[in-house]
Amino acid sequence: MVVNIEAYQRIRQELDSKKVVLVAVSKTKPPGDIQALYDLGQRDFGENYVQELVAKQQQLPADIRWHFIGHLQRNKVKDIAPFVHLIHSVDSLRLLEEINRQAIKCGRVIPVLLQVHIAREETKFGLDETELNEIISSLPALANVTVKGLMGMASLTHDQEVIRVEFHYLKSLYDRFSLSSNTKESAQTDAFQPAVYLPLTTLSMGMSSDYPLAIEEGSTMVRVGSLLFGSRN
Ligand SMILES: *Cc1c(COP(=O)(O)O)cnc(C)c1O
Repeated sequence: MVVNIEAYQRIRQELDSKKVVLVAVSKTKPPGDIQALYDLGQRDFGENYVQELVAKQQQLPADIRWHFIGHLQRNKVKDIAPFVHLIHSVDSLRLLEEINRQAIKCGRVIPVLLQVHIAREETKFGLDETELNEIISSLPALANVTVKGLMGMASLTHDQEVIRVEFHYLKSLYDRFSLSSNTKESAQTDAFQPAVYLPLTTLSMGMSSDYPLAIEEGSTMVRVGSLLFGSRN
């Protein structure tokens, strides 16, 4: 058994007590590993590759909530639209429009997160602040997607302060666009006034190496892979 059951139970207990959702990131891992955590009660699983996700979805129990967390190409959206629970990685309006189009075809409303570029590295995908504001302003036209929140990945560094600053920044953006935090008068003093406020519920940040820090900075959903399933090749 390669799945780390003790780590799962410890992390699950810790997250449950803080009301943080655990997405078990099972990319590259065989269906049997997913089934092992499913049998312990885990229902949220995250995948990065469309073909792999579709294959696993067909083999595994129907009540698994599948999260798509990788870079998503527009021509692949149709393959996951019928069943995906949450797409974390929306990084352009064109992608969001395609998700909306496929959602209409399936007769559903697809929940999504907008991925924000918070890391110093150039290579990571995600929206900058201006793009985020633009995309949120376009939302009223898209009736078959619902933006639940934001997602971000911190820099790959051991410098905890760098990671903390990046998570803190993402949380501040989340609060800025969030309807609930902006009903408080404090937001009115903010120089930046978004065009649209949203009833956001989900801030997806934190992975195996940095999830405790992410929770300290306000994460509501963490995406943990290698701590549960072992390292990937
Ligand atoms: C692979 C991946 C994870 C999980 O990473 P671990 O370090 O294995 O926990 C989380 N989020 C995204 C977007 C990923 O691609």
